[in-house]
Amino acid sequence: MLKIGHKVKRPGRNHGDEPIEINVPEELETVPGVNQNSADVDFYSREYPLESQNIELTADREWVWTVYTHEVLEDRKQHDRLNGPIVAAALNTGEIEPTGKADPDVDVTDAIKTKARELGFGEVGITKLDLRYIFKYKKSWAKFPHAICLAWEQDYEPTQTAPSIEAEGPHFGVYRTMGAVALDMADYIRTLGYYAQVHSPNDNSGAYIPMFVEAGLGQLGANGQLLSPHFGSRARLMLISTDAKVTYDQPVDYGMHSFCNICQICVNRCPGRALMRDKVMWRGVEKNKLIYKRCRPVMAQYEGCAVCMKVCPIQRYGMKPVLDHYNETGQILGKGTHLLEGFNLRDKGYYGPGELPHFDKDFFSIPHGKSEDMVFEQFKEKVSNGEIPEGPEGDAELRQFKNKVSQYVNQGVVDMMTPPEEA
Ligand code: SF4
Ligand code: SF4
Repeated sequence: MLKIGHKVKRPGRNHGDEPIEINVPEELETVPGVNQNSADVDFYSREYPLESQNIELTADREWVWTVYTHEVLEDRKQHDRLNGPIVAAALNTGEIEPTGKADPDVDVTDAIKTKARELGFGEVGITKLDLRYIFKYKKSWAKFPHAICLAWEQDYEPTQTAPSIEAEGPHFGVYRTMGAVALDMADYIRTLGYYAQVHSPNDNSGAYIPMFVEAGLGQLGANGQLLSPHFGSRARLMLISTDAKVTYDQPVDYGMHSFCNICQICVNRCPGRALMRDKVMWRGVEKNKLIYKRCRPVMAQYEGCAVCMKVCPIQRYGMKPVLDHYNETGQILGKGTHLLEGFNLRDKGYYGPGELPHFDKDFFSIPHGKSEDMVFEQFKEKVSNGEIPEGPEGDAELRQFKNKVSQYVNQGVVDMMTPPEEA
């Protein structure tokens, strides 16, 4: 039995459940939240501000629609139809006046947390809205100083079938549910006399995980996802920012930084070999870096992939059982079993522990950057190959190039969910 370093008390899984106590062994203790150098985080957010994929990565955003299976395509289109009004409704929530009268002597933290849990959010915590993690194009949109971090649990059973359309459906369904419930949550905050701005889970205003970590709702896993106490990386995340009188939560050391170094299941099982084994300092934060260019092709062509979510023991069993097992045996619960580590890839078959698929190099060859950059690269290639002749034919190519670039630069922010032909 390992020596317990500290215990973390958290609310029960569902509203009204008994609290749980997580035993973090001394040997896994590092720091509350994440190891970071704040001055470096400041530097990178100032010099290289984060920007949304809807702006910076529009080329592969267009490409994914060309490789979806018919089933995924229809699923995504349906999601878009249902979700569009929910995302649109969130956009101007920061302008809506409070409906009640605020009492400056009353701290409304407990009222907000209780309401969030009653409405179905599995985790709720409060911290500063950290503008360093808000996307460049959303910085002036984000109005209020406090972030209410809200996590919704994605369904357990379908997630265990990932990568599959059965797992992908609930994933997007959760976004719709929580996006709609958050509008009610914001209405409630307004009855307390305060503003509430909904940061949609499908129109993210920034990188949310750092604020969830700061609010003590989990720690960053080697799979690049929030490992929350009850449902690990099955947590789907969003924010509501507010000017309400609240008290901030504090970051927590759940032992996950050291645990991931030992576990490594997601790193070993990733079909795209997109996860790094060792942590690095990235933008001032110590983390395992994901290689986007190796992940994106797998996600797009295999139903959102999510193998790294599915195989994580914290997701499957919960943090307390996993750490209790580790404390008693020194072993990672489920590691090496087909139940935890096995997955199917459509048309390729089943991969058990120790087995990974192979892809040829063309599989990873996808467009990168912005759509207009991609058009320029294509044009450049034609020029180098001597495919742009002098005369009217060449002029027509040039005009076509100009039209395409104008179309992209004038369309502004692209909705990631909408197929290009419908945008
Ligand atoms: S989604 Fe799939 S490819 Fe991407 S990091 Fe996770 S396991 Fe790897
Ligand atoms: S699978 Fe293991 S290494 Fe990966 S995030 Fe989960 S606990 Fe960490």
